[in-house]
Amino acid sequence: MTRLHRFAVSSALLLQSLACASPEPCLNGLCHFTRNKLASRTVASELGPQLSANSNVYGPDDTQFGNCTSRYDPFFTPKIQMVVQPDSEDDIPKIVQYANANGIPFLAMARRHGMTSTLSDFDGMQIDMSLLDKIEIQPDGKSVVLGGGVFAKNIMEKLWSAGYVTSSGSTSCVGLLGPALGGGRGRLEGYYGVVSDSFLKLNVVLANGTAITVSETEHPDLFWAMKGAGHNFGVVTSLEMKIYPRGVDTWYYKTYIWSQDKLERVFEASNNFHNDGNHAGHHLKEMAFNMGSYTIIPSISETEGVIFWSFVYRGSKEEAQPYLDAFDAIEAVSTEDGNVPYPDIPGVSGTGMNSALCDYGLNHVHYPAGLKVWNVTTQRQIYDLYNEKIRQYPEFQRTTVSMEDYSHEGVNAIDPDTSAYPWRDRGLLSFIAVTYDPNPSLDEAAIAWAKETRDLWNAGAPDLLPSTYVNYAHGDESTESMYGYEPWRLEKLRGLKAQYDPDNLFSYYNPIIPNQNPKSTHESNFQGRQIGAKSRGRGQ
Ligand SMILES: Cc1cc2nc3c(=O)[nH]c(=O)nc-3n(C[C@H](O)[C@H](O)[C@H](O)COP(=O)(O)OP(=O)(O)OC[C@H]3O[C@@H](n4cnc5c(N)ncnc54)[C@H](O)[C@@H]3O)c2cc1C
Repeated sequence: MTRLHRFAVSSALLLQSLACASPEPCLNGLCHFTRNKLASRTVASELGPQLSANSNVYGPDDTQFGNCTSRYDPFFTPKIQMVVQPDSEDDIPKIVQYANANGIPFLAMARRHGMTSTLSDFDGMQIDMSLLDKIEIQPDGKSVVLGGGVFAKNIMEKLWSAGYVTSSGSTSCVGLLGPALGGGRGRLEGYYGVVSDSFLKLNVVLANGTAITVSETEHPDLFWAMKGAGHNFGVVTSLEMKIYPRGVDTWYYKTYIWSQDKLERVFEASNNFHNDGNHAGHHLKEMAFNMGSYTIIPSISETEGVIFWSFVYRGSKEEAQPYLDAFDAIEAVSTEDGNVPYPDIPGVSGTGMNSALCDYGLNHVHYPAGLKVWNVTTQRQIYDLYNEKIRQYPEFQRTTVSMEDYSHEGVNAIDPDTSAYPWRDRGLLSFIAVTYDPNPSLDEAAIAWAKETRDLWNAGAPDLLPSTYVNYAHGDESTESMYGYEPWRLEKLRGLKAQYDPDNLFSYYNPIIPNQNPKSTHESNFQGRQIGAKSRGRGQ
């Protein structure tokens, strides 16, 4: 570990000499070739003294390096040469300026759940945001100021205990900004829209190291872009979000496990439940979220998936019951229900810190599709394919095919043109994650299965253009399917890129402008894995 303040005391002499070697401005561009492979120790000694006292710089030899760089999904991994962990948001302009002066690519990370293949392009400095974890409820009780490294669990718990809630992703272990910069889907969207709809202002460090504030009144076009395409534009060092009175003391939840013979009835009931995609006035905001999956429960069968479904309702069992009657009528293998405070809802619906969903270190080869209704025939085909693949490859037993149905009232209430999030018309979000211990000999089969499943979803919705929720993207989907097919959206985003990030430094997370770096590791990594497919063809 290179704890900077200790380093500064114990190595004063070394620092003095290294201070002489502080980076020159990159006058002729040559330093991009001569200094972009700087050792982390050099970075610690040059950059470290400029940062606040409890900041850290870790290199591969430091014991903390592994903790800071371990990833939820190791299938597509950025290459990390060093980790800089700022202790103050004021450090970030200095870090970005230092990285630029030395030609070092940089990328902000919070909880390291990013899964897209484009992250494999990255080879450089990880800005680890995890120390920037403040959660400060404002005195008027209308907003909260959050550090750029906060994550869902902490926000839910801290706000709830003070009598509030705000939007976040549904899974406790995931960062706030990773999801929110791409819109952010979560259990409160029936009330307040996608997560970024609750942004009030963002403090952003731009590609050139300048710190600015963006909001409805300051850089409003960039504010628009940060709400759906934000990974392309800057490092968010802190933000202010709306908060809301928490309402009821407990939420009701009910989970069902059905055997496969009930599949058609389950999806017909679900289509009725959301009124064939016309959520308005039907799928009430209180009936916040239901999520199903095809999954293997070994105690039931190791070769035949069951249908797991979880519903959560902001209120009592009695109030929820009319919406659940149709599902109760389908005989289940087992059910479970109860009332818990909102921060405990992830734990009882399969998305909590201790859930299998939050386990680090497994490959999750994935593809998503955004839909409006469940095509029951397609759902059966996908289920049959699931069993076929599990029988063929027992190593894939932890695979899940997920079907998410968020209440949509709050999302629909917002004019779609007012943010870069383009998919307000897609109430249903489906997603396969072929899950297995890293094993390259299985990669080809995993990719083929995931893709076939996604293609079945899209083929079953011929009236819809394929849509890709940017945070669930595999990374080879078309830019339009992630950021919207209306030409003005990409034109506006690319215009803003030219203005705020002309050198395309933020190009590692489903970029609007693909990374052109000839040294990119992405092509080789990706082509090795994307067997038989075009890696960056960006076509569906
Ligand atoms: C188990 C699991 C559950 C999920 N559940 C949900 C969900 O309920 N709702 C939902 O919408 N999505 C969900 N997702 C998808 C999720 O939105 C993305 O995986 C997201 O990238 C994760 O963010 P992170 O901070 O955890 O990961 P990281 O890898 O740390 O960050 C991902 C990317 O976000 C950007 N980023 C992060 N912090 C900052 C910052 N401060 N400033 C600028 N850029 C930043 C960077 O581009 C980074 O590469 C889930 C993913 C997983 C794996």
